[in-house]
Parts: sequence; C-alpha cells; structure tokens
Amino acid sequence: MKRFEGKNVLVTGAGRGIGRAVAVAFAKEGANVVINYAGREESALETLALCREAGGDGICVKADVSNEEECKMLFDKAKEAFGDISVLVNNAGITRDKLLIGMTEADFMSVMEVNLKGTFLCTRLAVKDMMKKRYGRIINLSSIVGVHGNAGQSNYSASKAGVIGFTKSVAKEFASRNITVNAIAPGMIETDMTDAIPENMYEAMLNQIPLKRIGKPEDIANGVLFLASDDASYITGQVITIDGGLQG
Ligand code: NAP
Repeated sequence: MKRFEGKNVLVTGAGRGIGRAVAVAFAKEGANVVINYAGREESALETLALCREAGGDGICVKADVSNEEECKMLFDKAKEAFGDISVLVNNAGITRDKLLIGMTEADFMSVMEVNLKGTFLCTRLAVKDMMKKRYGRIINLSSIVGVHGNAGQSNYSASKAGVIGFTKSVAKEFASRNITVNAIAPGMIETDMTDAIPENMYEAMLNQIPLKRIGKPEDIANGVLFLASDDASYITGQVITIDGGLQG
C-alpha cells in the first residue's frame, strides 16, 4: 500500500533541488503533486515527467510565492486539478549572500519576501481547506543557519529563523484541527543553491561533517515524507535537523 495514494500535495519551488526530490518521493507513494516554480519551466516539466514515471500524477504551476495574487492563483489551479490540498511543503527559497556591511535593503528584503513571507502566504491559503477537513500536514524548509547563524547570511539566517518561529506558532494555532506543522533544518545539501559556494569554503564545510558527505536532496525528502505520514501524527511544532551531524 502506497503511503500517499490519492493525496494532494503542493510543493513550492519543486522545479529542481530539494523540492524536486520531495515531489518525486511523494509521487512514488501515489500522490498527486502540484509542482510550483518561479521561472524555469523546462526544469519544472522535468520534475513532472519524473513524478509520472514514479507512478504519481501532477501539474506544474508558475507562481511567485512572495506575491499574494499569484499564491491565490496557485491554490486555485491546484484545487481545479485535484481538489483540496492535504500536504503543503513550503520549500521555495533563495539566497543573496553578503556580509552585512555590503548588504542592501533589497538583498535583505528579497530573501525575507520569498523565504518567510512566501511561507506565510501559502500556509494561510492551505489551512482554510485543511481546517474544514480537520486534516493537514505542513512542512516548512528552514536551515541549520536559521538556528546557528552564518557569516555572510544574516538575511537568509533571519528568514530561516523566522520560519522556525512561524512554524511553532502556527502549530499551536491549528493542533486542535488535526493540522500538524513542522520544520526541517537541512545542513549542506547538493543543489544549485550550494553550487554557488566557493570551492575552498565547500571543502572546509565538508571536512566538518561527521558523516563525511554532502547531503542529497533525497535525504531531506525522506524527512519530509516522514513528517507528512501517519507515523508522525503526534509530532507538531518541531524542527528536525538533517545535516550529517554538522551541528550535532
Ligand atoms: P534551489 O536548488 O536553488 O531551488 C530553489 C527552487 O525554488 C527552484 O525550484 C525555484 O524555482 C524556486 N523558487 C525560487 N524563488 C521562488 C519564488 N519566488 N516563488 C516560487 N518558487 C521559487 O534550492 P534548494 O537548495 O533545493 O533549496 C530548497 C529549500 O531548502 C530552500 O528553502 C532552501 O533555503 C532550503 N535549504 C537548502 C539547503 C541546501 O544546502 N541546498 C540547506 C538548507 C536549507 P525555479 O526553478 O523556477 O527558479
């Protein structure tokens, strides 16, 4: 029996990286997956093809999660295609890394808008139907730097720390409706986002990981599926670190 047979799952930023791995993992378990992306249509269509190959179904929807109207359109299209969403994965995220002294207001705000406001907008839309159904699973992508900080990432760390506070508060608001809300804090995972890290920094970070490898997007997808599954029905308001022991 597939764990998410017939369930409708919306994954933001599912065109590539962690979001793609999450979408495909849900599809393997029989879910209908709404694949949101920001601009790279070809990449999103590739995710859709992988989902179908894996045995699920899906649609691709281009929408900027920091824009309220586009988020509404995203949820409308999801509903039109499959019906109510029972699992939301707030995964879309960006970085604009700079030391504070050179960081502009735009660098700061763009990261807050996508990573934190995007999570707020999509969650607010998702809980409406979840409340009626008295069932929902929301998983937010934070980061270990949202817990521990990182030089050059004050904007990103602040947004990811915000995601943790948001997760814990919303978990308390909706627990009585059987909606669980949790966060995952990944360490260093091999995606386009970490490709941007200079090689010397990358090597130095790798040396600090006790499990001696960079994480794969699938390592995070495994955690997301666990939190969305019935096995995690008594877990809410938590942050699960998946980082190979980096911040152990
Ligand atoms: P990624 O490879 O850079 O992919 C980001 C995805 O987000 C893409 O599909 C992109 O769409 C989408 N996106 C960007 N801005 C968006 C917007 N405004 N609206 C909708 N979608 C948007 O990122 P990743 O490494 O997989 O990271 C996924 C999540 O995990 C992020 O929240 C990130 O902060 C978090 N995380 C990652 C790591 C890591 O080591 N990789 C570590 C900790 C936390 P397009 O493809 O259309 O551009």
